[in-house]
Amino acid sequence: METREAAPGDLELVRRFVNTRNVERGTDGLAGPAELVAWLEEHSLVARASAGPADVVAARQLREAIRALLLENNGVSTRKEAALTLNRTARAAGLALAFDPDGGARLEPAARGVAGALGRLLAIVAAAMADGTWTRLKACRADDCRWAFYDRARNRSRHWCSMAVCGNRTKARAYRDRHAAA
Ligand SMILES: [Zn+2]
Repeated sequence: METREAAPGDLELVRRFVNTRNVERGTDGLAGPAELVAWLEEHSLVARASAGPADVVAARQLREAIRALLLENNGVSTRKEAALTLNRTARAAGLALAFDPDGGARLEPAARGVAGALGRLLAIVAAAMADGTWTRLKACRADDCRWAFYDRARNRSRHWCSMAVCGNRTKARAYRDRHAAA
């Protein structure tokens, strides 16, 4: 399951970041500053950093803003505040274009620490938007799930992280609702 839903390349980091919060179980891998730094270090987004409560708030806000974009990718319209959060994060990171001697270009954060690490995640999002992989990264339509998965279906038709779990549960509920109405 984990490998089947994994995103290609660095985009997998973004997927894992969104999934640090497990909506169904009510757990949060970014519970506090120590957990946040540990996660960022473990995923090589920062070498050594210190974090405070404000960093945790910023990271969680970014996470939910990205989740909102992933719901949009799955045909679910969300409130439009996500862009504000993304722009605020980009500004705090000091994201700027950096050109390689061999001709490539990418976004790089000027900020260090947590702000820079969150900027790296945004740079991955922007690169995925440019290379076309972005629209396949989705958040599950089930409102008690919202798990991020990469849609590898040829026609990009996946709506749920798992048809067996979320898909069937949602269909069963719709069936009950129809019959309750009738
Ligand atoms: Zn799901």
